[in-house]
Amino acid sequence: MLSRRAAQLPPSSTAALDTRAKQLAEDGVDVINLTGGEVDFPTPREACEGGAAAIARGLTRYTAVAGISPLRQAVAARLTHVWNAPYTGEEIIITNGAKQALANAFATLLDPGDEVIIQAPYWVSFPHMVTLAGGTPVVLPTEAGTGFKMTPRAVAEQITPRTKVLLINSPSNPTGVVYDRAELAALADVALGAGLTIVSDEIYGDLVYDGAEFVSVASLGREVRERTVTVGGWSKTFAMTGWRVGFAAAPPPVIAAMAALQGHTTSAASSISQHAALTVLREEPVAELRRRRSALDERRRILRDGLAALPGLRLAVEPQGAFFAFVDVAGAYGPSRHGQEIDSAAAFAERLLRAARVAVVPGADFGAPHHIRISYVASPEALGEALERIRDFLSAAPDSTVTTASRQPSAAHPDTGWKGTVP
Ligand code: PLP
Repeated sequence: MLSRRAAQLPPSSTAALDTRAKQLAEDGVDVINLTGGEVDFPTPREACEGGAAAIARGLTRYTAVAGISPLRQAVAARLTHVWNAPYTGEEIIITNGAKQALANAFATLLDPGDEVIIQAPYWVSFPHMVTLAGGTPVVLPTEAGTGFKMTPRAVAEQITPRTKVLLINSPSNPTGVVYDRAELAALADVALGAGLTIVSDEIYGDLVYDGAEFVSVASLGREVRERTVTVGGWSKTFAMTGWRVGFAAAPPPVIAAMAALQGHTTSAASSISQHAALTVLREEPVAELRRRRSALDERRRILRDGLAALPGLRLAVEPQGAFFAFVDVAGAYGPSRHGQEIDSAAAFAERLLRAARVAVVPGADFGAPHHIRISYVASPEALGEALERIRDFLSAAPDSTVTTASRQPSAAHPDTGWKGTVP
């Protein structure tokens, strides 16, 4: 019954692990969930009040497909003044989360077979979004040795007559890497020289630490801005993942095409969410955002320093943005540790969840089969406890813990006391 396209589409592995960890927690298992793509801070009061006021005022109908005009203007103003990327309201479309902005962008830019250069490690959804739009993802591997960054030369080598788009995601999910101004300028030079469009996913642009500077690609100059689709949103900066509101910024013809597409698919983003998003931009809680950023930075340091002390694990690069650490686990591979050979990051994550009750995401779906992604979205105490558990897990003698028998429902695990099973 399914189309080939649908049949080939796997579910999101990050969502699957998050669901599994949450299910375990619901079953009473004391699991520390470090899989997530959202911070544990509440949505700012300003946004909640803006949403509630919209309901009270009856602003609950369809809006213009590209979004309410004051919100488009407010996004343009923020991009102009905070990210130094000068845009006008007509160059903005409001979408159902940044995900829809990306999906719209690929659907409007790509013809069948057009190629999109995507660096690995990549956020799991990127290649699928390109494929769904009829394009061909061309994966450009990057290494820890080069800071998990694309070099202009490596990009140039991937360009063919079919290449249409260079995708940039800085700060990056899953590595936390932040490109600097010179690196972005050099990539933009290559892209523009080959007539490509840049899709720049800047959803983590407000979350950088340790003196790192976030540079919006569209701030690099008029020529670059005119060849770029900038994607962002409220999900990460304002802890508003559930409100489903994001944006794309691009030249007016691209925005018009995205609006036409969105008009025939989902229509506008929720009117209530748009008013919430507007209020939080108008009354931006700058001090609160600063406080949250420094709280995330503290967690980042706890994780980084804790990982440095763990044998067998290696932080692949120093994360400077977003809220992820990308960790090479190949040094922890070995025979029959925790009841089964660990020979991949997937096996490592599976064993870690089972034996130590710490949930992380294995890197295969990010294009990095020997790495795990750890989100530092938990409290400092929980992160400390997770590091302890990982240390115990790594130092356990081979064959010392889980056996198949201990996986039976309700049989308490001899070492962990865990009564659940991993589905
Ligand atoms: N882009 C990247 C790189 C992400 O990590 C995510 C969420 O995890 C998104 C886009 C989607 O954001 P939204 O929730 O606004 O759709």
